Amino acid sequence: MQRVFPKIFFEITLTIISVEMAGYFIPEGMRYSTLDERQQFYTQEFDIRKVAGWFRGRTDKIRFAVIIGRHTKIFPEKYAEDASTTIIIDEYNDLEDVKSQIIEFLPEAVYYDRNVYDENEKKACQELAFDLDPENIICPIHGSLADKMERHQGLSFCELELQMVKEETLRLYEYLAKNFSHLKIVYSGRGFHIHVFDSEAYELNNKKRKSVAKDVKEKGFDIDEWVTVGDMRLIRLPFSLHGLVSRTVIPLEKAELEDFEPVKDERCIPRFLRK
Ligand SMILES: [Zn+2]
Repeated sequence: MQRVFPKIFFEITLTIISVEMAGYFIPEGMRYSTLDERQQFYTQEFDIRKVAGWFRGRTDKIRFAVIIGRHTKIFPEKYAEDASTTIIIDEYNDLEDVKSQIIEFLPEAVYYDRNVYDENEKKACQELAFDLDPENIICPIHGSLADKMERHQGLSFCELELQMVKEETLRLYEYLAKNFSHLKIVYSGRGFHIHVFDSEAYELNNKKRKSVAKDVKEKGFDIDEWVTVGDMRLIRLPFSLHGLVSRTVIPLEKAELEDFEPVKDERCIPRFLRK
């Protein structure tokens, strides 16, 4: 007996696939934050004491940075000219002052500099970090980063990629824990970061960082080498708002990561989305 699938079946299937590809951007519920929402977040929700806690142990003056509207094209009119610039915040009195400057700029992203500077403002050492992004995952639906770039979807990612990158982060954590003892995981809004706070890690020179990055890549982890090697010294500030996806950047214990669902988890959903 010959089975004939009705034509409508194929048409529906094709429609589902093309909607999935064309509409492929970021998981449902994640979206750009408006200027008003950034304002609400940084005035009412951003907890500078938690930020201070993150930097406990650092005695040098930390440099911060903001990007106002490079990707979102959402920025206060008066900063139109600097919307895509990385603005360094290194002149401030205290963290409250940093917060005021963030509220002034209402940026899409806030970072801090992993470099530690000496009293002459020369780089003394650098915090070691690993960056795992969902777009680097080879997705069964959306393909590799190259495939995504070809479709101009280099910044897009899906829930499956988020899930896969989370599992990869757990594996990398376990791998790194063999050599380091002070590790912290951060959900960055898109993917995950692993920060290494061992003092030996701060002291690694450029060559050693390169070999660490190479080793981790060879073990099959899709990290962004620029971050580990140190050329990209800025990293997203924990407890800030990721304005492309409207998620709070939060540190997570390894045990918490296992059940963590970035799309639904209340801890990373800013108040303006919790209604
Ligand atoms: Zn995907």
